[in-house]
Amino acid sequence: MPDALADALYELIVATRILANEKVLDAFGHVSVRHPLDPQRYFIPRHRAPELAEISDLVELTLDSEPVRPTDFRLYSEKVIHGEIYKARPDVHAVCHHHAHAVLPYAISGQEIVPVFHLGAVMGKVQFWDQRDEFGDTNMLVVKPEEGASLARALGPHWTVLMRRHGATVAGTSLRELTFRTVFTCDNARLQSQAMAHGRVDALSPGEVKLTAAHQLRPPSTNRAWDYWVRQVEKAGLMPARAAAKGASTTAARAKKADAKRAPTKSARKNSVKSKRRR
Ligand code: MN
Repeated sequence: MPDALADALYELIVATRILANEKVLDAFGHVSVRHPLDPQRYFIPRHRAPELAEISDLVELTLDSEPVRPTDFRLYSEKVIHGEIYKARPDVHAVCHHHAHAVLPYAISGQEIVPVFHLGAVMGKVQFWDQRDEFGDTNMLVVKPEEGASLARALGPHWTVLMRRHGATVAGTSLRELTFRTVFTCDNARLQSQAMAHGRVDALSPGEVKLTAAHQLRPPSTNRAWDYWVRQVEKAGLMPARAAAKGASTTAARAKKADAKRAPTKSARKNSVKSKRRR
């Protein structure tokens, strides 16, 4: 029987390696996945450059972005981006926050990113968020839960939000959809910048966007692209090692064991998290 949890953790690390290899993530940025069996939790690597993250680096957090189990790991300061989006959007199962240079000119200038080629349709209507509007001068990091919640509000029912003078946050219904959307949003931004240098930019019509996005987000397309990016990661020698895959089952087993100890009801589960937090 397939192990949904182990598969999700392994795929999270693969998605992270893909997005690093495709130059979306560098020293910074992060990807997370919602717990496949418990929508009130998500997994994200500990504080380190995403390309270096292993399955053993994954931590399980509540939607308040608190560790489910006590951990000595340092966590990303911007983890609330993920928790607050999962809270606001039950349909979202994977989130990526990045500072890719392909999109930064748009985050800096406020120029709208529009779908300029067919695969750009999957980014949806790109939203803007300016931390300054609600929070004034900050260190530009989305650290407080209210900052994450504000970003989630700006995302609204959409899939991509540009963060002024900072970066972007992308959501998906799965890790594969998220990876597809994130890579092609960066491609679209790069192409739009080049087309703008040539002169007038023509964009897809709303009808083309709707039809194309529906077609491209079907598994035959997202899986085909995923397999291609996995091959690129393999060629770069960056695939998580088999030993790391073993680690997935260990991490999953540890999470399962802890789950089994927790009482099954929601309120009891909440109390259990609280008591752990008090330690
Ligand atoms: Mn950031």
